[in-house]
Amino acid sequence: MSQTPATGDTGTVSDGNPAGRESAETESNKAARKRRRREPPPDPAPLPGLVDAHTHLAACGGRDPDAVRAILDHAESVGVQQVVTVADDMVDARWAMDAAQWDHRAYAAVALHPTHAAELDDDAKAELEQMVADPRVVAVGETGLDYYWPGKSESCATPAEQAEAFGWHIDLAKRIGKPLMIHNREADRDLLDILASEGAPESVIMHCFSGDLNVARECVDRGFMLSFAGTVSFANAEELRAAAEIVPDDQILVETDAPFLTPHPYRGQPNQSYCLPYTARALARVRGVDDAAMAGILGANARRVYGLPLQ
Ligand SMILES: [Zn+2]
Ligand SMILES: [Zn+2]
Repeated sequence: MSQTPATGDTGTVSDGNPAGRESAETESNKAARKRRRREPPPDPAPLPGLVDAHTHLAACGGRDPDAVRAILDHAESVGVQQVVTVADDMVDARWAMDAAQWDHRAYAAVALHPTHAAELDDDAKAELEQMVADPRVVAVGETGLDYYWPGKSESCATPAEQAEAFGWHIDLAKRIGKPLMIHNREADRDLLDILASEGAPESVIMHCFSGDLNVARECVDRGFMLSFAGTVSFANAEELRAAAEIVPDDQILVETDAPFLTPHPYRGQPNQSYCLPYTARALARVRGVDDAAMAGILGANARRVYGLPLQ
């Protein structure tokens, strides 16, 4: 990943400008902030035994064997031994399949993301059916409902299109006998209702869980896995931390959702699977257990749910 040099962001202001005028200083601060946003967070202290339950390798730059290996070597160096890389659309699904073939530490989940639900035509269905039968594919996802983007993005599928595609993916997961990985943005009630009426597969993963305590309880009662991303470490996430506290030991997962949702205090900087220990430690603090025990629980759950071999 190339870094922009310290100087040259504005062309007029350089670090160490002796003038010290306020305008120059403000410019310099702005440039520094901009630079920081592009800067990857430092490596966390290693925390062995972890599995990144949901990441997007292609969006992190992993689009050839060497790039995938570099991302996974980096992750492994801090204890993240395996990852599940997730597709958004059909092009991304092919990238996820490739990554899972290229590297033994990568497994794939494929589906059309709810925002792409309108692209679920017969060809896409046939290709997804074929993909999920592959042993390197460990889940159907991410699918679900996203009520944030309709109306904001013209290309986003409507709620009705999303519900229909969600139903198709639920059925696919049941037929193939693999976990259903769910994306839910601002759609708690409809999502839980559709799952109830369609009949949930045996294994359901609520990726990047974002609900409140009541939604968490309902998911726990239904036997779903709750997967927490960097959002659980954000300063204003008290409600989410309260939810993370009540999840039983055998229903909790941790994920990066990289390149998004970089954990505190690196929010806004680029995320990758090697950042997972930050979020695992945040969960350990919330649940009052030591880091190693938390990592053991999180890793074991991911391996059980996705059926991954021990590394
Ligand atoms: Zn998602
Ligand atoms: Zn995602």
